[in-house]
Amino acid sequence: MRTIDIHAHLTPQCFQNAVLNGGDFHGMTSASGELFNPRNAWTPDQRIADMDSLGIDVQVVTTNVSFYNYDKDIAVATSIARDCNDEIAQMMKDYPDRLSGLANVPMQDIDAAVAEMERAMTQLGMKGVMINDHINDVTFDDERFYPFWKAAEELGAFILIHQSRPTVVTPRLDRYHLPNSIGNLTDRAITFATFVFGGVMDKFPDLRVCLCHGGGYTCFGIGRMDRGWEVRPEAKVNISKPPSEYLRSFYYDCLTHSEPALRYLVDTVGADRVVLGTDWPADMMLDWPVAWVLRMESLSQEEKELILWKNLEELLGI
Ligand SMILES: [Zn+2]
Repeated sequence: MRTIDIHAHLTPQCFQNAVLNGGDFHGMTSASGELFNPRNAWTPDQRIADMDSLGIDVQVVTTNVSFYNYDKDIAVATSIARDCNDEIAQMMKDYPDRLSGLANVPMQDIDAAVAEMERAMTQLGMKGVMINDHINDVTFDDERFYPFWKAAEELGAFILIHQSRPTVVTPRLDRYHLPNSIGNLTDRAITFATFVFGGVMDKFPDLRVCLCHGGGYTCFGIGRMDRGWEVRPEAKVNISKPPSEYLRSFYYDCLTHSEPALRYLVDTVGADRVVLGTDWPADMMLDWPVAWVLRMESLSQEEKELILWKNLEELLGI
């Protein structure tokens, strides 16, 4: 029995050291908001101690979303990505049995993003990348991203899709924490739809895309996407089979905060497509993630083992 967590964040020490002394990190300051959660300041040793208490053997570490910086000058964004990736790589070297990582890449410039993904995977040993649901409002059905998907296929990159702020809900209603609690899930359904209806999964069939937060509302909404494809010509422009046929082309983390929802996800996409994701150390994380999965009466022991570690062990070779 092992446990591997695909969804665990880092506020890099290089950023903290810069801003806590009153300075800035490539123009980023403490106003980015990442310092309000005390756990964001924890050192790698404190991270490992907390993983021990939670029963997590391996974290696949990604930066917090404040470090995407897709709206910044490409030279600045590239410097931020490189510093973040170098720090995660050092953590992986220091704790090879406990920590792995996905890279931050400057997606506003595809050549630069491909170059950093390649450096992170071939030189730093990282397993892929984490990216937003869109890049400055451009969705992933846009042809400008084709070279990135092609490179990701060739490198075998694992692509974790994780929203930034604002989400699609924010402009409508920025209250009650709904931009996060509903917005993350809405963003994820849009991302599934743009990959599928845009024909991206047909053009790049070896892409390995993992949708955070259980894929959001994707599974619950797939029947309506199928109906749209059936009756409307504009839904068939790029694909010749219904969207539900693509559900098993993706991976999903288990972060649903609901056992019936997780059971439905497993029934819809298969247990071989669902992986452990905790969102450590955010306030919206699963508090006791391993215990949460293990005590579920609706999952078989085999399904629990696939979710907790077997799928990611095979997918990432860790
Ligand atoms: Zn997260």
